[in-house]
Amino acid sequence: MTNKHAGNYAGGNIFASHLVDSMLRVDALKKRYSSVTALDSVSFALPQATYAVVVGASGSGKSTLLRALAGLIEIDGGEIWLGERNLTPLSPHQRPVSTVFQSYALFPHMSVANNIAFGLEQQHRSAKEIRERTDEMLTLLRLNDLAQASPPRLSGGQQQRVALARALAVKPEIVLLDEPLGALDPALRHAVRHDLKRIQQESGVTFVHVTHDREEAWVLADHLLVMEQGSLIGNGTLANLHAEPHNLLTASYLGLDNAIPDGEEWIVFAPEHVVLKRDSGRWNGRIVGVHQLGAVTEREIALNDGTRIRQRSIDNDWDVDDRVWLDVLEIRRVTS
Ligand code: ADP
Ligand code: MG
Repeated sequence: MTNKHAGNYAGGNIFASHLVDSMLRVDALKKRYSSVTALDSVSFALPQATYAVVVGASGSGKSTLLRALAGLIEIDGGEIWLGERNLTPLSPHQRPVSTVFQSYALFPHMSVANNIAFGLEQQHRSAKEIRERTDEMLTLLRLNDLAQASPPRLSGGQQQRVALARALAVKPEIVLLDEPLGALDPALRHAVRHDLKRIQQESGVTFVHVTHDREEAWVLADHLLVMEQGSLIGNGTLANLHAEPHNLLTASYLGLDNAIPDGEEWIVFAPEHVVLKRDSGRWNGRIVGVHQLGAVTEREIALNDGTRIRQRSIDNDWDVDDRVWLDVLEIRRVTS
């Protein structure tokens, strides 16, 4: 199995040696909690070394999906396969899967190095292997200077990296991350995103990352999974979903925030693709709101039929109550 990303870390190959063919296939996964259908026959496949991001509103089933993949809940139907291996009957510790929670769940009384070594100790690896693997993880996560530090003294971003190092130390084939950046302040969240992407690419491991932040999804995702009320309603690479967004909700997660009804369909497009004109265009309306977002101006426009449209650009030529025509540089059509 070759992989264009795996193994370019420090000239060595710290993961790819154990990665056999590991396409993740989830088939008709079902989970009910009394009256709630948390997973409604969810199916998808992810090639090895994919960064998958799961988005959806609160309560849409994202965490339930991760728990099912980890084996932490009993499912009511469906199967989970990794390459030729059926993971469905396996207990959590038998699955080649590690989970990183938002809370990190580090052991406060253990050093960073001992936290990272914990899973390897549990697996009764040799002292030499534990030492070597811990050192590799300290280097991969750029934590060498903090090896003997105590987790409560670390910043949120550092703790997040320790949690990830601990998850990766046991050489999982899948890493599950449930809102892993949720506890960080916005500036740090941006920096740590790039660490996550780098580490996923260098390790060649598949990451399945849950977030409700669509910008996080844009930066990280090779593959996007959109959940709504237990159903997977968007499933594809970012490029494929951009070409064909399936439905309004998936379009909105891609930044296509505007939707105009057109017969049986909706025309969807991004605020950045709207061009305002004085004399003619495809739609006519009136500016009803202007908001300065740093260098960019966002305007809200009411079309003549009442549909609200958002437009963003860096010019300053328009005011509230101006009549405008709109052209759109790029549109997509969806049916629901
Ligand atoms: P998300 O992570 O997208 O916010 P969850 O997967 O946590 O959503 O929840 C999906 C649905 O399942 C919600 O309606 C939630 O209330 C319900 N649910 C999740 N866990 C339990 C549980 N342990 N008992 C009962 N209902 C649950
Ligand atoms: Mg959740």
